[in-house]
Order: sequence, then C-alpha cells, then structure tokens
Amino acid sequence: MKFKHLSFFFEKIEETASRLVITEYLADLFKEIAPEQIDKTVYLLQGRIRPSFESLEFGVAEKTVVKSILSAFNLEKKLFDSEYRISGDIGKTAEKFKKEIMSLEEKDLSIDEVYRDFYRLATSSGNGSQEVKINILAHLLRQSDPLSCRYLVRIPLGIMRLGFSDMTVLDALSWMIKGDKSLRPVIEKAYHVRPDLGFIARTIKEKGVDGLNKIGPEVFTPIIMMRAERLSSGQEIVDKIGRCAVEPKYDGFRLQVHYKNDQVKLYSRNLEEVSYMYPDIIEGVKKEVGAKEIVFEGEAVGFDPKTEAFLPFQETVQRKRKYDIESKAKEIPLKLFAFELLYKDGENLVGIPYDERRKKLEKSLEVSGKISQDTILLAPGELTDEGPKIELLFDEAIAKGLEGIIAKKLDGIYQPGARGWNWIKFKRSYSSKIDDTIDCLVMGYDVGKGKRAGFGIGAFLVGVYDTQYDRYVTVAKIGTGLTDEEWQEIRKRCDKIRTDDTKGYEVDKMMSVDVWVKPSLVVEIKADEITKSPVHTAGRSNKNSSGLALRFPRLVRFRDDKNPQETTTLTELEEMFAKQNR
Ligand code: AMP
Repeated sequence: MKFKHLSFFFEKIEETASRLVITEYLADLFKEIAPEQIDKTVYLLQGRIRPSFESLEFGVAEKTVVKSILSAFNLEKKLFDSEYRISGDIGKTAEKFKKEIMSLEEKDLSIDEVYRDFYRLATSSGNGSQEVKINILAHLLRQSDPLSCRYLVRIPLGIMRLGFSDMTVLDALSWMIKGDKSLRPVIEKAYHVRPDLGFIARTIKEKGVDGLNKIGPEVFTPIIMMRAERLSSGQEIVDKIGRCAVEPKYDGFRLQVHYKNDQVKLYSRNLEEVSYMYPDIIEGVKKEVGAKEIVFEGEAVGFDPKTEAFLPFQETVQRKRKYDIESKAKEIPLKLFAFELLYKDGENLVGIPYDERRKKLEKSLEVSGKISQDTILLAPGELTDEGPKIELLFDEAIAKGLEGIIAKKLDGIYQPGARGWNWIKFKRSYSSKIDDTIDCLVMGYDVGKGKRAGFGIGAFLVGVYDTQYDRYVTVAKIGTGLTDEEWQEIRKRCDKIRTDDTKGYEVDKMMSVDVWVKPSLVVEIKADEITKSPVHTAGRSNKNSSGLALRFPRLVRFRDDKNPQETTTLTELEEMFAKQNR
C-alpha cells in the first residue's frame, strides 16, 4: 500500500469520534494491507517505529520538525509561524503550505519507503544527527502529497490525534476477520503475553487467529503483569480460594526481569524498560540466577545495610531516577524479592499451577539466602488454610513495616494482564469505610484562585477507566489536602501533557476544567467513602441519573509505574461501593 492511501485512512479516522466507526475503518485498512506491511502500519498509527516497550523514539522536538518544514518548502520562519499560530496544528500547517507549493520531486511513496526513512531518522544519533533527522523528514515532505505531509509531520512528534487505544486495534483485528468484536478476548489474551500490536496483527494476517494459540512468552518482550483482587479478612480469603500460599506484600516497585545471552533487561509495571536505573539488580541477576533464559518477577525494595531494615516506599522510590544512578544505588541498595516465574529455558510457565511455578523459581535462584549477601531473594511463602493464621501473618507483615500480604491460590495459573482471584491482596484497613486506595487518571485542572493563584492550579479532576466503553469517567475534583510542593508538582506534570482533545473522556458540564490533559498521569487516591453523585459520570447511565464519587479524596502518591489503563476500573469501583454498603 502507498503511504498516500494510508493517509486517507488516517484522515477518516481523525474525523470521527465514534469508536465503533474507527474500529470499522481500521478493519477495512487491515483487510486491504499486505501482511508484511501491517506491523509497520500499526506502529505508524501509534506515532511509533517499534512497540512502546522498545525505547526507540524519534528523538525530535517540534523545533526540529519546524526546521524540516522550512527546509522542505523553502519557507521563511515568520510566514510559517503566522500560519501555525492560526491553525495551532503543525500537521495541518505543513499540509497547507504543501498545497501551495508545486514540487517536482513528488513520488507515490510506499509505506515501506516511509517506514524505512523514519527508522533511519529514529536511529541516527550522536554528532550531527539533528541535521540528518531534519534532512530525512524534509526529503519525505518534498516527495509527498499535502495530506501525507499532515501525517508525516505528526508521526515523529507522536501526536497522531487519531484518538484510539490499543484495545480498539484489537477490536479492529477481530472485525477484520468476523465483522464483529467477538474474537477480541482470544486476541487480547495473546496480546497480554506479547503486547506488541504489530506482531499480533502480523501473526493474525499471516496465520489467522489460530496462529495466536502458539504464542508464548518471548525474552525481551515484557508480559503484561497480573494483578491481585482484594479482600479484607483472612477468613474471606480462605472461603474464596482455600489452602493458599501467603506471601508478604512488599511496598516497593514491581520489576519483570528478562535474561538471555548474558543480557538483562528490567521492565516496570507499565512495560517501560528501566534497566539503566538499576545496575545493582542487573549485577545481582547475572550472579544469582541459574538459567540460560528466564523471565521472572519480583518487588524491588530499598534496604538499609546498617540496620538491615527495609525502607518505606517514599525512600525506595528515590531509586527511580534518570541521574546520579550510581551514587543513589550505593546510598539505597535494592533487594529484589522474586515471587513469580513465567518462563525458563524454553518452557512457558504462565499456564501451570502456582505451586509448580514456585518450585521451579526456588530452583532457579543460586543464592545464599542471607539478606546481607544476596541481591535477589525469594519472597517467603507460608501455606495455610486457616483464616486466623492469615490474620497472624498479616499482623507480622505490618509489624515489619510492610504493606500487608498477598495470598496465592495453589493451583492458580499466572493470568497475564488480568486482575484475578488467583492472587488476593489484603492491605492495612483504614478507619474509613473503604480500605483500599483508588488509582485514578488526572484528566485536567482548574487554574487557582485565592491562596493558590500563585501555583496556577486550584483543583484537579480525576477519573477511573470504563473498560466497557474504553473511556475515562470522573469520580472527584480534588482541591485540598496537597502540600505546596505537591500542587507545584502536579501543575508541572500536567502542563507537559496539555491537550484540547477530550475524546475518550466522559465529563459532566459541571465538572469541566480550565486545562485538559492527555491520559497519562496516574495518581493514587485515598477516600473515606464512595458516594452517589449527580455530577460525576462514573457508572452514570444518563444525565438524570447518579454516578459514583469519592468523598474526602486526597492524594497518596503519583503512580508513575502505572499506565492510564491500569487505573482502577469502573467495575472495581462499583464492587468497592457494593462492598462498603454491605
Ligand atoms: P496491586 O498493584 O494493588 O494490585 O497489588 C499487587 C502489587 O503488589 C503487585 O503489583 C506487586 O507490585 C506488589 N507485590 C508485593 N509483594 C508481592 C508478592 N509477594 N506477590 C505479588 N505481588 C506483590
């Protein structure tokens, strides 16, 4: 397929707000495209070159793209600026200039040619690379028609404005085959193990949906992590899953470790590669793990070598940084408590029972078992089928400064990407009616009045993820309870992700905000109670009914380790509401 033709699809998708229509357009596109082009196309649709867990970025700022446009069309910066100021859209500005300029170089470029040039652009680094990038993009612009120019400019900036998520792509793949969304669960299951949309699309295109059955973990492709359900007493846990393994719930950050050919890569919960942040863990894995190839998970926790005590989250989290990595690693060494084994030496372990995975995990660690010596430790697990024993283990965990416990069903499989009853978390109960925190997406903020006018932010709007409609619905506007630093921090973070595009947000007029932000920033919120509210859209079926809202919401912390789709879901909120009222 030619890139020009692909741009028609981009335009059609951009012009509709209906998710169903977008799904159909994507399905039409996928039907038409050749198997060897579909993976590249899927990445381009996302404004990328490779799946998001591979940190290959274009590495261009808007300034660089503007230089490419000026060079391609031989434009004065002033003229460009005045046009850009009017439309506010860099893609459409490039398109407009291209319409006015006759170019002799125009060629009908194929998707492969565009992809190849973009690949070159993204991988050029070092001295003089900005010049190379400018030239590559300028050359592409000179060769292309006006509409293609709109998207050629947007792709490297990652601002496609197409307004759909990975889930819509999965729906579209189902639609391509069946004309409906019925295959989405099968496709999504494979995607949870190999969250590389290009790879999934190509597999389906080449081998059909049956081709997905053979998909297993691949070292250096992070698996979407399993999550835990929640209960609030030992007895409830035993009633639900019977005899189980009780492990301490460490309060640090979760890492998925991939090892092959003496290379280690670490992934965070939101599938970002974070290897460079944790040289001590990398060393530990190389020395203390006995396997040719392995994928396992653990929780990294800061450790004080003098007192041999674990550090609270606020201290551990200081290890999440881009600079001064080595010195912080000395100050706050990490211990990785391994708790899950997903793949080892050619064997896919995701679908086997917990107790078998656990035995294999124990055999995979070549450690002394002494906390002062090892970096990788095995999370201790105790078997029980008694509620009171679980309560005791819970109290012991709390006394050690941990968060609580996680109970694991003995014959439970690892469920990638799912929150399932095979893992049940039991955290400290608070005095309020709801005993867990809620992970919310920041959707926008109001400019401050009065005391906080100086910070430029007075309140921020948060919501949860409505999986059924793939959208965010609101649960609270938070205007109190933050420290001055936190207000400044949240404002700073929001300003980096401002947008006018509220596609995918369902907000009542009363809750509208001055500044909208892209779905990116996740915060953990503590509230006293879930109440009914006419102005919040969580679970609200129409304007005259009530939604769910949080009472006395307050910020606990930023959850940089979670991606927007990992916020608490509307279904979970509804369950918490039902439980609170029981
Ligand atoms: P949540 O994210 O609230 O669903 O709680 C589950 C989280 O607890 C996981 O994502 C891990 O980061 C963390 N965790 C701590 N200790 C363990 C453990 N022993 N087993 C599983 N998860 C653990």
